[in-house]
Amino acid sequence: MDRKYKVIISIVAVILIILPIMVWNLRKPVPEELTYNQFLEETQKGRVERVFLGQGDTIQGDLKGGTKFITDNPRKEGFKEELLKMDIAVEEKKSSEILSQVISLIVLAGILTVALTIISKRFPQAQGKASRVGTSIKEEEAIKVNFSNIAGNQEAVNSVEEIIDFINNPEKYSEYGARMPRGIILYGPPGTGKTLLAKAIAGEAGVPFFALTGSDFVQMYVGVGAARIRELFKKARQAGKCVIFIDEIDALGKKRNGGSDGGGSDERDQTLNALLSEMSGFNENEGIVVVAATNRLDTLDDALLRPGRFDRHIEIGLPDVSARQMILKLHSRNKPIGSDVDLKSLSHDTVYFSGAQLENLMNEAAIQAAKRGNGTIKQADIEKAFYTVIAGYEKKDRSSLSDMDRKITAYHESGHALVTKLVAPENRVSKVTIIPSTKGAGGFSMNIPPDSMYLKKRDMENNIRILLAGRCAEEIVFGKDNITTGASNDLEKATGVLMDMVRRFGMTDGWGLLNYDVLYRNGIEQMQERLLDGAKKCLDEFYGQVRCLLMENRHLLDLIANTLLQKETLDEETLDNLVLKADN
Ligand code: ADP
Ligand code: ZN
Repeated sequence: MDRKYKVIISIVAVILIILPIMVWNLRKPVPEELTYNQFLEETQKGRVERVFLGQGDTIQGDLKGGTKFITDNPRKEGFKEELLKMDIAVEEKKSSEILSQVISLIVLAGILTVALTIISKRFPQAQGKASRVGTSIKEEEAIKVNFSNIAGNQEAVNSVEEIIDFINNPEKYSEYGARMPRGIILYGPPGTGKTLLAKAIAGEAGVPFFALTGSDFVQMYVGVGAARIRELFKKARQAGKCVIFIDEIDALGKKRNGGSDGGGSDERDQTLNALLSEMSGFNENEGIVVVAATNRLDTLDDALLRPGRFDRHIEIGLPDVSARQMILKLHSRNKPIGSDVDLKSLSHDTVYFSGAQLENLMNEAAIQAAKRGNGTIKQADIEKAFYTVIAGYEKKDRSSLSDMDRKITAYHESGHALVTKLVAPENRVSKVTIIPSTKGAGGFSMNIPPDSMYLKKRDMENNIRILLAGRCAEEIVFGKDNITTGASNDLEKATGVLMDMVRRFGMTDGWGLLNYDVLYRNGIEQMQERLLDGAKKCLDEFYGQVRCLLMENRHLLDLIANTLLQKETLDEETLDNLVLKADN
């Protein structure tokens, strides 16, 4: 629909340009056709003013009085002399007529070219396959963004710091045979500062920045996107060291699933393949790094994520309360903030706001204040702006502000974290958060110490306990009837671990050392029911243990959950301190 519209516009534009030229041509007097004899008669009567002689089948001329005529070309020798003797002006070949036709043709071609360029710039989709590609690939003017323009995304900033060193001193790394990561994917919700970070990489490294959006590559004509990719990399190479940024990479790198989305997938495949081959084409230590951004990592084609391609994945999540305060502070830097404004309490009121929303909030408040013209931004301006900003975003954001939801999430995640610390203190909990991520409601990340090649039975059992602890905490605190769907992923994983123990590793009492998959392949199926029954009992047993643990340590659970509600994110140290302090 959209494309059709663009094509129609182009056609109409071309017609509008050609039409006046045609009309102008038609309005020119049509020469009168004379037979050769009539022509001779006219010459004898002395009524011919001028004749244009050429090599063609016809000759043209003017009669006295201005009438134009056309007649057969006799092509006889001495014709010119005859005419001249009769006092008729003769012009040869390069008649003004031919000249003006040539000129009008050139003008026409010129106008068409200009028109097409304008159209194709407006509507890149309408560009023909053979036309020049890459007109939209531009190096951005010297990048002024650097790390000081980013607040709160400290982890992400840390993980790109070494890339900057890589870009600047590739020799340092190649001496040790280290290769630079070619591709980095920044993933997370919109407005969290992915583009900002990519720009900051270029800004900090002091190299050019080339930016494009995934949808720029996926064109109507197969092959255009691929050509653009090649053009982009050509330009990048000419620039030497640089950062290439591809926003919305999912537009061209979505998982390929049998082309269920019909047309356009051919083009996408070609474009993706071009990108992959360009990426493997450049030398690791050239100092070119490709940064891509997406909202969701799990929808990307695996081919993109393989080693040597986009093999660094950096999550950029929504900011927690302290990050929000830093972002608010950053975006108040150049604004006259009134004394009644408390950024700290504002950061508490802006749960689930992205960096872009916070920036937007301060900007709206400044607009309100400017309208009032009272010198400073007051709390009232911010309150007004708050509703403007919230109204501009999806409803989802508002409903998820529910306090009950936050509380449930806080207890759920605290359950996981606390049980980890109780059953397997050697496991590090690097982060607990109630800020939603792309993976689900809250978040909890645990690093299992990679101290051994094998997973012990004890480790696997503890993993099950940790997985069940989220649901269990919900049940203890809010009651059996108020448990939520938040545990679905945990239950899936716990079941998976248990099944592995039973079917593959012979780790459970009562089921012996048999590998159930082999049995099944050999047609022995009687065990299925017993297996199901036993597995259920087993999980119940683990759940019971977790329940006891959490009840015994309810004070710790409350402490962690309340701290989490307040701070939204706990790092490793804070969590460890909470557990330790309460213990002693
Ligand atoms: P994304 O690419 O993730 O959608 P952007 O990088 O385009 O988000 O962010 C949009 C704007 O929001 C930025 O230009 C900046 O003003 C603001 N912003 C977002 N995150 C941050 C942050 N962590 N620190 C400071 N400003 C931010
Ligand atoms: Zn969970």
